[in-house]
Amino acid sequence: MEKKTCEFKAEIAEMLDLVVNSLYSKKEIFLRELISNASDAIDRAKFLALTDKSLVADNPEWSIRITADSDAKTLMVADNGIGMDAEELEKNLGTIASSGTKAFRQMLKEKGGESLPELIGQFGVGFYAAFMVADKVTVETMKRGGGAALKWESDMSGGYTISDGERDFPGTSITLHLREDQSEYLRRYRVEELVRKYSDFIAYPVTFRDLSVPKDEKDEDRKRREESEQKPLNTMVALWKRAKKDVKDGEYAEFYKHLTHDWEDPLETVTFSGEGQVEFKALLFLPKKATMELFMPNQKRGLSLYVRNVFIGDDIEMLLPGWLRFVKGVVDSSDLPLNVSREMLQDDAIIAKIKSAVTKKILSSLEEMKKKDAKKYDGFFSAFGAVVKEGVHTDWENADRIKALLKYPTARGDAGKRIFLEDYVKDMPAGQKDIYYIFAEREDDARKAPQIEAARKKGCDVLIFCDPVDQYLSESLREFDGKKFVDIAKGDVQFGSEDEQKAEKEGNEAAAKELKGFIDAVKKQLEKSVSDVRVSTRLVDSPCCLVAREYSMPPAMVRMMRAMGQEAPDEKRILEINASHPLVKKVSAMEGAELENAVAMLYDAALIAEGSPVADGARFTKLLSDLMLK
Ligand code: ADP
Repeated sequence: MEKKTCEFKAEIAEMLDLVVNSLYSKKEIFLRELISNASDAIDRAKFLALTDKSLVADNPEWSIRITADSDAKTLMVADNGIGMDAEELEKNLGTIASSGTKAFRQMLKEKGGESLPELIGQFGVGFYAAFMVADKVTVETMKRGGGAALKWESDMSGGYTISDGERDFPGTSITLHLREDQSEYLRRYRVEELVRKYSDFIAYPVTFRDLSVPKDEKDEDRKRREESEQKPLNTMVALWKRAKKDVKDGEYAEFYKHLTHDWEDPLETVTFSGEGQVEFKALLFLPKKATMELFMPNQKRGLSLYVRNVFIGDDIEMLLPGWLRFVKGVVDSSDLPLNVSREMLQDDAIIAKIKSAVTKKILSSLEEMKKKDAKKYDGFFSAFGAVVKEGVHTDWENADRIKALLKYPTARGDAGKRIFLEDYVKDMPAGQKDIYYIFAEREDDARKAPQIEAARKKGCDVLIFCDPVDQYLSESLREFDGKKFVDIAKGDVQFGSEDEQKAEKEGNEAAAKELKGFIDAVKKQLEKSVSDVRVSTRLVDSPCCLVAREYSMPPAMVRMMRAMGQEAPDEKRILEINASHPLVKKVSAMEGAELENAVAMLYDAALIAEGSPVADGARFTKLLSDLMLK
């Protein structure tokens, strides 16, 4: 093949520039990233060879070899894994995985170079970490199953070249031409330290060899050196197979980082084994932060699956319900056949059992965290609460346990504070039968909403639903602890004891009779906008508000249906009037044009109070200025 010179895609050039021109304390992670890639490449080769024996015709002994050359100042990480063909070389090392590109650029913009090392792994760009310590990188590769030897090379000056390579066996070797001040990575002790620290659990032997040998080496020394060159630096024991007590501090966290490319430690590590019906071991992690992809339709989700130590695949989504899609980790089962395919996993009974056990285990870990460490739980819920809520809707079997994990802000609570449903129920005043909630775009709008005034006065708190998912999930909540969920801005709500309610009802009837003329006039005038006008039970300080009928569709649903081009009912709401409000008393005594203008303003004010737009802003402003002039 002729030597081909290519330019990096723009975002890579941008990133490399940051890699070179900023200072990082954690340059050393480059080794973790390269070993991780090498291990993945062997995993893939092993997996594909399950169904295509020709890939392992060379009978490979899987290994990752690190070779230092002090004279040339190069460090090489070599594997005998799957290798790459020309197309893959260009795609994998010339572009950032397209799913990550946009997100990566966004983060670059927001965070600049400061947190680059954290970002590198997260966006599938771990390979480029090599440029933190090297000014030139050479990749020699040959694809398993009869590919050509290829060489990729870049000194980061904007592009890379691809040409014929020299290697004569499948796999990939990555040679770093170390920068002047990075020669520490040529030393055995330093490399060994890093492998122990970051890559101990890698399932293949990672060995180290130094090419520069003292000229006058004694036989004895040579023997010792050769022995140490054979000896893996890592222990290679799959972490999930080890008893928790045999796992050193930090090992789980490093494994988590290897698995997820996250930079931070996990929030929680959960280990367990299934026995009885299905035998498996699981090592699960709850991350600290949500990734941006959590709500994207094509995001990767699921756990890595091993069958008797053989890697079958990552992102096996059948192992987790959708509402736990933020959970990361590994499941290893000896009960599955080695030749399983993704399609077979779809309706495999064993997989379904593992999924159910994993779900229950995560639930109990969260329940434990909720009980024992409120601060940690709050961190978890801020990151993943919105996803957990989906479980109420989609995971009927566990819905009650999931509900008990939810936290909501309330009208009485301070901004940012959330409470559990059980705390809400515990604080309900005698006589309150239902759990009240109100929808709002922002927490604070809800606290000011006229619709909750009476509830507040009667000592009832109101849950604030301001998460976009709340709109769709309110129907599925149904009840908690035997108490129904009731939208306080809907239908005919009543507060207090039965006696109080009776007295209120009678008072309202009397008021309605007294205001009949006024109410009829308002009804007639607002005929096109509201379905009814009535005396309110929920207002205290405001003159009026708008409420929906009990069985009407939530406004968010209406908007969604329209957006999808479907017919949605144009439901008019009810205007409720506070009969004891001085303004209502005053307006109800007006007549003619004066009455009409005042009613128009009252209606617009009700819209403004709940954060809805008024239909005719110009008219409202004119009425208001006329009024002010008076
Ligand atoms: P990530 O590993 O997160 O996908 P990288 O930038 O580290 O991102 O690597 C990009 C891609 O290059 C990998 O997904 C893989 O396809 C390929 N690759 C990297 N290193 C190797 C290797 N040693 N053997 C085979 N393919 C590799």
